[in-house]
Amino acid sequence: MPIRRKYEGWRLQERHKWEKENRIVLTEISAVSDSEKRLIVSSIRKLLKRFSFPVDVEVEPSDSHLAGSMREILRISSFGGVLDTDSVLAELNVRRKVDASLRAGIVVKVCPSEYKFGDPLAIYGIGEEDGLVLLRTAHDEAVTHELGHMLGISSHCDNPNCVMRYECPSDDFCKDCTAKLRNL
Ligand SMILES: [Zn+2]
Ligand SMILES: [Zn+2]
Repeated sequence: MPIRRKYEGWRLQERHKWEKENRIVLTEISAVSDSEKRLIVSSIRKLLKRFSFPVDVEVEPSDSHLAGSMREILRISSFGGVLDTDSVLAELNVRRKVDASLRAGIVVKVCPSEYKFGDPLAIYGIGEEDGLVLLRTAHDEAVTHELGHMLGISSHCDNPNCVMRYECPSDDFCKDCTAKLRNL
């Protein structure tokens, strides 16, 4: 099992600020069942453990400061009922400068009927390397795919049996994507 560096963030190159926090926070901004939350947390933990990322996952309730901030960011990034995900990340990064609680990797579960995504490829949500995942579903493949982006796989994979293909046809990574995650 590879030993990752814990002191300067775990990634060897192209570091993002959220990695220095060594934690991922899951929150909900619309009603999410406890079983959905448990599913998401267990998918994230499985992924972190498998690739030895020294990162913890915490759950913040919907009435937390973090959930409130994310709800507001999504509200001001919605135009005509459609969410502009680039604007969500830009606004989050502005607030991170003054609000330390937003500097972790943030995973937000949204209600798919409440939040429409502008990007037609965002079937299950979005994942950004810069520490943001928005999930429309709690399915293991979707969580693994979007977390795969946040942990460092920036582009989609062409392999028809890989979870990093854009429509997540599988729940596992192909050999190439596995190697990418191992070598971050
Ligand atoms: Zn994707
Ligand atoms: Zn792949």
